[in-house]
Amino acid sequence: MEPLTNKEEKRVVYEVPDGDKPGLLASVFHMKCPNCRRGDMFINKSLFPLNHLLDMPKRCPVCGQKMELEPGFYYGTGYVSYGLSVGTTFIVAIIFGLTYGFDWRDYSIFYFLGIDIGLLILLQPYFMRLSRAIYLYLFVKYGKGARLSSQ
Ligand SMILES: [Zn+2]
Repeated sequence: MEPLTNKEEKRVVYEVPDGDKPGLLASVFHMKCPNCRRGDMFINKSLFPLNHLLDMPKRCPVCGQKMELEPGFYYGTGYVSYGLSVGTTFIVAIIFGLTYGFDWRDYSIFYFLGIDIGLLILLQPYFMRLSRAIYLYLFVKYGKGARLSSQ
């Protein structure tokens, strides 16, 4: 069999199992493969141990979708996790403002900063994974698959 050319590779569509299409948001938050929304994007279900937090299979175990479209693909996730952190800070600010309340005459701003920074540190491992999931979903559409570089 002749090797596929780059042009042909771009048209490869990965097989998606029969059945209902899983929902987008649930699939992102459960970190399922964007092409089939069934295979897991990460090898360990748990976030621990943290040094294996970002271990991903080369390909989706269900449909074969590449998990890293090109070398260094996930460098851009820094922007996504920054966005997640900023969004979290806004939500914490709103909840804090509604419950405790901000007042310049007391230490409320410092309490808020302490809670927010603590929460962001705790959430960071989760955000690192979630931002990879969101990032891959930007490039790979359901049932269409995607490769950016030849392999
Ligand atoms: Zn898949």
